Amino acid sequence: MERSVPMPGEGKFALDRQAYDDDTQWQASLMDLAYDAIIVRDPQSRVLFWNRGAEQLYGYSAKEAMGQITHELLQTRFPESGEALDRHLATGELWQGELVHTCKDGTQVFVESRQTIRRNARGEPLAILEINRDITGRKQQEREQLERYHTIVRTANEGIWLIDREAQTLYINERMAAMLGYAVEELVGHAVPEFVFPEDLPKAQERIGRNLQGHFEQFDFRFRRKDGRPLEVLACTTPIHDATGRIGGALGMFTDVTERKQAEVDQLRLAAIVESSDDTIVSKTLDGIITSWNLAAERMFGYSSQEAVGQHITLIIPPELRAEEEMILAKLRRGEHIDHFETVRMRKDGSRLDISLSISPIKNRAGHIIGASKIARDITESKRLRRDLEFLADASKVLSSSLDYKTTLQALARLAVPHVADWCAVDMLGEDGTIERVAIAHIDPHKVAWAEELRKKNPVNMDAAHGIPQVLRTRVSELVPFVNDDLLVATAVDDEHLKVLRDLGLTSAMTVPLVIDGKAEGALTFALAESSRHYTRADLIMAEELASRASLAIENARLYQTVQQSRDQLEIILQGVADGIVVYAPGNRMLYANEAAALIGGYHSAQQMLAESPPVLFNRYELIDEQGQSFPHDRLPHLRVFAGEPQAQAVIGSSEALAGQPEHWWLVTSRPVAGEGGGVAMAVTIVHDMTEQMVAERRKDAFISMASHELKTPVTSLKGFTTILQRRLSRQSDTQGLHYLARMDAQLDRLTALISELLDLSRMQSGKLALHEEPVALDALIEETVEMVQAASVTHRLLIEGSTDAQVLGDQERLRQVFVNLLTNAIKYSTQVEQVIVRLVRDEEGRQAIVSVQDFGIGIDKAHHEQIFERFYQVGDAEEKTYPGLGIGLYISREIVERHRGHLWVESSKGNGATFFVALPVLSLSEQADLG
Ligand code: ADP
Repeated sequence: MERSVPMPGEGKFALDRQAYDDDTQWQASLMDLAYDAIIVRDPQSRVLFWNRGAEQLYGYSAKEAMGQITHELLQTRFPESGEALDRHLATGELWQGELVHTCKDGTQVFVESRQTIRRNARGEPLAILEINRDITGRKQQEREQLERYHTIVRTANEGIWLIDREAQTLYINERMAAMLGYAVEELVGHAVPEFVFPEDLPKAQERIGRNLQGHFEQFDFRFRRKDGRPLEVLACTTPIHDATGRIGGALGMFTDVTERKQAEVDQLRLAAIVESSDDTIVSKTLDGIITSWNLAAERMFGYSSQEAVGQHITLIIPPELRAEEEMILAKLRRGEHIDHFETVRMRKDGSRLDISLSISPIKNRAGHIIGASKIARDITESKRLRRDLEFLADASKVLSSSLDYKTTLQALARLAVPHVADWCAVDMLGEDGTIERVAIAHIDPHKVAWAEELRKKNPVNMDAAHGIPQVLRTRVSELVPFVNDDLLVATAVDDEHLKVLRDLGLTSAMTVPLVIDGKAEGALTFALAESSRHYTRADLIMAEELASRASLAIENARLYQTVQQSRDQLEIILQGVADGIVVYAPGNRMLYANEAAALIGGYHSAQQMLAESPPVLFNRYELIDEQGQSFPHDRLPHLRVFAGEPQAQAVIGSSEALAGQPEHWWLVTSRPVAGEGGGVAMAVTIVHDMTEQMVAERRKDAFISMASHELKTPVTSLKGFTTILQRRLSRQSDTQGLHYLARMDAQLDRLTALISELLDLSRMQSGKLALHEEPVALDALIEETVEMVQAASVTHRLLIEGSTDAQVLGDQERLRQVFVNLLTNAIKYSTQVEQVIVRLVRDEEGRQAIVSVQDFGIGIDKAHHEQIFERFYQVGDAEEKTYPGLGIGLYISREIVERHRGHLWVESSKGNGATFFVALPVLSLSEQADLG
């Protein structure tokens, strides 16, 4: 293949032709074999030779390249400049460096270039030889590697910080900047000391100094963050060499350990808390192996941490409670907590203690339960407290069980042994100022007897500066936690006594006063003997509480005795009273009766009466009321009181019908005693014998009855004679005589009226006032009556208003008598205003017909509203005294109305007139039909 061999052209320099040709021939062939681009150029840089390697690398053929200026053809990029290269070549030294060339197709290639200059014998530059090796691939790789490296550095989780010899920042990665709380831009150009706490500066400088001396360093360090907080790092720093091999700075790699540090601190703090906690804190694995044991645990159980850690938890569990641990571990494995589990644990010395456990499972990061931590609290004290409270509750029961305080105190002393004391004694101050032992208790009864004996032999020295006399004097309790011999010596009366006291082996004692009504009247003494326990303030408080309850009980007992005494006195009085006194409870139950009541009831004694069930007061008699009618049982006063009446009274008689029984009359009065709930708890009934009074009354009634009968006959005759006389005198036209006769007749009428009132009264008394009942047209009856009364009155005007349209069942004449009575009273007691209004109405339901008689006269004070219906009652004011009458009209009227199943009442006040009301049941149509 024809080779285009570079021919010496119009070169400036003369060449040794032959030599050059020969040389050139084989050299050219050789150079074509080379892969590298070999270029020969003249001193003006025009291409003289262009081998195949150059053709292949750059794309230009030798033909195209020949004569071209190389750096123009290949757009050479020099490391410095073309001139610099030329200057170097001019020195005659080999130049070596990297160039960037642009190929024919425009691509760029990196070449590693070696160039040298050839000179002729005269030393003039002949040609420049240039060999360029394509390093584009290698460059590419390098660049990629660098990029990768950059990415790594930039995105590393470690902070990377490059500094120069002056500690100025040359490079810092984002992570480092972030760790410090800055942006990268804020850090470049700043020196390391700016990011270090002043106190840490010497340390930083020392490390950097060592790096600059060529050492690799690894250490913990802290920087100061932008926000002033510390940044804890693990630092690895290393020296950096420059191209010349000199140390130009240092590179640091920093790992943020702030969190780890914090966790370490937390861990330490937690451990410190656990260690210093007053609560016992123990942790263990799920197999029960103890893994931690704090100081409190050491104190509580007596094992040191070294002794306990690694041991099984059964170390402190009493043998009989081993099963409990299985239960606890099973719960923990299920992840459950155990709160305030009360149990017993064992100390190193084998003694037991009451504790309350709270156990929580310990979980690892993955949430698996790997063990348990338990907090134990000593509850010996609270258990003791609970026992004390139970004891106090029991004591309270004992104290309230009896009202005999000596018995009570003995029971109390027995109760205190052995819970509170080995010995318990109660002493009371006697009236003579000496101390009397009321109770003593010890577990062993022999010792009790012996102690009693001892006390008899050695009475208490009242002047002693301690013990019971001192407590009684000062009312301050005495606590002797440890009984020592000095105390025994001080207490002993004599040597023998001292010996006995020593033999007792007392270890601890306390004495508390029994303060009643502000005075120390006794003392409770508790003592421990043959026991390793000692009293503490807590025991004393309990004892004082017990004493205050006992004092209260004594006070109650005394109070009860006092009450008992006054009750006894009262009882004597009640039993001596002539009236019968009975106290009823609801349900007709008799609570109390005095002797007089028993006598009335026909019993030998009150006791006998009350023992009977049910005791009855009047069972011997058939009871009657004042009219001789049978007395209805439900009207008995005490039953009326239980039914709600504020007071009830009745005159009750015993019927004479029972053969052999003398007549008896009683005034029975009952009053309620209110219970706590407000209801009637009791009814106190007083039975006053009024037989004599009643007999006298009866006699009086009998006299009235007889007198009115006796009077009636002569008056009737007189009335008859006046009629005869009247006829006579009219015939003789003796007007004068007739006038006197008329006045006599009027007086006779009044006499007749008075007598018939008296007769009615006595009939009523003896129950002989008969009623002839029939339907009565009320309105018509009223009209007739009013007309009749009006006819006799010249002074007053009587008006009727309204109507009842009612038929009532009754005795027409008796009812008329009622209305006449009311109307005449209205006229009689209203001399000033001469009008009387009679109103006829029905009640709301229409079942009652109501007739009211209203006057505008003197009126009646409220105090007399009921009494005016009693017989012989007249309002006793001086004013009323002037009105004639017997005071029995209203009594009879009410009797009549009530026997007609009606009511009679008054509404009035003094000076404002009076209105009397008569209400009578209306006869219904069906009733009228029945009566037909
Ligand atoms: P007397 O025959 O005295 O009127 P009564 O039984 O009819 O007896 O009345 C009793 C007492 O009631 C009378 O004495 C009088 O004091 C009083 N009294 C009765 N009716 C009236 C009345 N309309 N106004 C004032 N007082 C009256």
